[in-house]
Amino acid sequence: MKNRTYTDILLFMLVIGITVFPYNLSATEDINNATDIITPEIPVEFNIDLNKNISIEPDEPETIEELLLEKENALTENNLDPTAQSPLTILKQTVQPGELRELSWSVGQSFSGKTVKPRVVVVRGNQSGPVLCLVAAIHGDELNGIEIVRRVIRNMDPMEVNGTVIGVPIVNIYGFTANSRYLPDRRDLNRHFPGNPTGSAASRIAYRFFTQIINHCDYVVDFHTGSFKRNNLPQLRADMNKPNVREFVGHFGSTAVLHKSGHGKSLRAAATLAGIPTVAFELGQPGSLQEEYVESGIKTINTLIGHLGILNKLRLWFEPQPIYYSSRWVRVNSGGILMSKVKIGANVKPGQLLGYIINPLTTEEIRIETPVKGRILGMALNQFMLPGYAAFHIGVSSDSSSMVEEKQLDNNENPNDESDEVEYDMQSSEEEEIH
Ligand SMILES: [Zn+2]
Repeated sequence: MKNRTYTDILLFMLVIGITVFPYNLSATEDINNATDIITPEIPVEFNIDLNKNISIEPDEPETIEELLLEKENALTENNLDPTAQSPLTILKQTVQPGELRELSWSVGQSFSGKTVKPRVVVVRGNQSGPVLCLVAAIHGDELNGIEIVRRVIRNMDPMEVNGTVIGVPIVNIYGFTANSRYLPDRRDLNRHFPGNPTGSAASRIAYRFFTQIINHCDYVVDFHTGSFKRNNLPQLRADMNKPNVREFVGHFGSTAVLHKSGHGKSLRAAATLAGIPTVAFELGQPGSLQEEYVESGIKTINTLIGHLGILNKLRLWFEPQPIYYSSRWVRVNSGGILMSKVKIGANVKPGQLLGYIINPLTTEEIRIETPVKGRILGMALNQFMLPGYAAFHIGVSSDSSSMVEEKQLDNNENPNDESDEVEYDMQSSEEEEIH
C-alpha cells in the first residue's frame, strides 16, 4: 500500500514536472521571440504607414533604450532653469547676469574735438525677462526725466531683477550742458530718428543711439516735459493704433494717456515702427527740476516695472487702469499777457473761466473760457502771447477705441491740428528761418 502510494506520488510529480517544465521553457522562448520579432518590424511598419499617408504617433517609446532616453531628456529639461539669464553684449561690453554696469555711449566728436560719451547704466537681472529702456533729455533742457531715471535705477538690485533695465539719463549731452533743447546746430534730435550714418550731425547721433541702444530694447519710455514755457500734467503719448503699444500702456497704472501717432522722425515713432512699443512720458516744464513730478514719475515707472514682472516686490495687488483722453487746444484770440485762473490737472466745464489776456497798456481783460468739459492736461506759463498762441491743453475723457477713430478724423479733416509735436515743429522751423 505504501509502495503504491510512493509510486503514485512519483508518477504524479513526473507528470507535473513534464507539464510545467516545457510550459516555462516555451513561455521564455515566446518572450524572447516576441522581442526579436517585434523590434526589427517597427521601422518597417512605420515606413509603410507613412507611405500610405496614415498618421502614426511615434512618441511612445518602443524599446528600453528609447524609454531610458526619454527619461534622461525629461530629467535634463527639469534641471534646466527656464528663467536662467544670459550675458548681454551691448556697446562692445558684456554685462553678466546679476550685474549693474555703467557704460558710455559715444556720440562722436564735439566741436572742440573731444569725444563726448553720455552714461548708460545697464542692470542685467539675475533672471530672464523683458528689456526695459528708460531714456531722458533727448531735449537737453528737460530735466525731470533725468532724475527719474537716476532714482529708479539707483535703487535696483540686479540680483532681484527679472530681465534688464537700461537707463540713459541724458541722451542729448550737448543740449544739456548748454541748457538747450537743441543740438549745437539748432537741430532737434527728436526729429531725426532712426537716423542716418552719413547724414547730418543730428542724423548720425540718432543713428548711433538707435542702433547701439534702442535695438536692444523690448520696451522704451522716452521722458519729456512741455516745451517753450509750457507745463504738462504727467501723461503718456502713445500711438494707440498699435496693439503692442496699447498693451504696453495698460501697464502704467492710472496715468493720463493721449493718443498721438507722433512726429514721423521722433524716437517714439521710429522705435514703434521698428516693432518696439514706445511711449513718450511728459511731466512738467523744461528748465527746472520739479520734485512733485519726479516723485509722480517714479511711482508710475515702479508700477510699470511691477506689471512687467521685472521686480516682483513692486507687483501691485490692484490694477488701476490708465485714463484715456482725446484733446484740444484753447488758443487766445488777442495779444497780451496771459494770466491763468486754473491749475494744471483741474477739471473744467464748458464756459468756465480759464484765465485772462491782459493788455498791458489798457485796463482791458479778455476772458478765456473752455468750450468743452475736460481736464487741464497742459498749459502755458503766464507769458506774453500773440493771437493764435495755444494757452490751454484740455483732455476730454475717451476710451482707447474711440481715440483711434478721432485720430483718423484729425488726419482727414485737420492735418494741422495741434499736437505739441506739430506746434513745436512750427516754432522750431520758424526759428531756423530767422537764424
Ligand atoms: Zn522733449
